[in-house]
Amino acid sequence: MPGVTDVGRLTTTERSDRLSASGFRTNYADPVFWWREREPGVGPRFGVDWAITDRSGGTSTGSYAALNLGAHVADDPAAVARNRSRVAHALDLEPDDLRFMRQVHGCGVSVVDRERHDPTLEADVMITDDPDVALVVLVADCTPVLLLDRTEGLAAVAHAGRVGFTNGVVGAALNALRDRGARDIEAVVGPSVCPRCYEVPADLREAAAAASPAAYSVSATGTPAIDVAAGVVDHLQAAGVTVTWLPGCTREEESLFSHRRDGVTGRFAGIIRLLPPEDAA
Ligand SMILES: [Zn+2]
Repeated sequence: MPGVTDVGRLTTTERSDRLSASGFRTNYADPVFWWREREPGVGPRFGVDWAITDRSGGTSTGSYAALNLGAHVADDPAAVARNRSRVAHALDLEPDDLRFMRQVHGCGVSVVDRERHDPTLEADVMITDDPDVALVVLVADCTPVLLLDRTEGLAAVAHAGRVGFTNGVVGAALNALRDRGARDIEAVVGPSVCPRCYEVPADLREAAAAASPAAYSVSATGTPAIDVAAGVVDHLQAAGVTVTWLPGCTREEESLFSHRRDGVTGRFAGIIRLLPPEDAA
């Protein structure tokens, strides 16, 4: 797809090789992050620390092994708290600095900062201008979207599953950012279930295709399917956003949680944190 930066080092094969070399299946000790880039602020422009978490690096067991960050999936709350703490510390933050939302496959927007935070608030988009907090979106097949305006110093996350995408959650996030002054927005679109693995009834495919023709797809067995991530990327690009799409299918990659693959399972995260401009340091 033109205009999309393909992060080649994250191909499924290379990742699988790395994971098997590190004994992934029996050793959950290692990576906290599946992908991470930390870019300091330059001059008056804000920097960013953004990441996708891995399944390894946590303390949950069984179906939730190991770095489950979801507190709503019947995992041991103490293990989830330890896992969230590990992620916070890996980002040079404290656990209280992470901002979660109660995701409901809607288009609601929550504005948060150091003082403002209500984790019980239903939302599928979070926005902040505060470098002291990191925004977290939890997924296990849905598409995590990280959004950034380095000039205005605005960051956002969006939870784009089939329902949210079809109902316009990407547009809701972009509108909320632009209402706050964002003009030059860039995005990272994280791994999600790929269309080969995402068979749906024909009417759901039609609804998704109405939201974006890019979402119309066919599964590995030739049945109707949806490519949510392609639809998300289409919405972002149509709005002039610069997109980095991290390849990877959650159902095919054992290093990521997948609801379609496992049913009872944990959640991994897309995370974004603003870093202050160089001038402010
Ligand atoms: Zn797949």
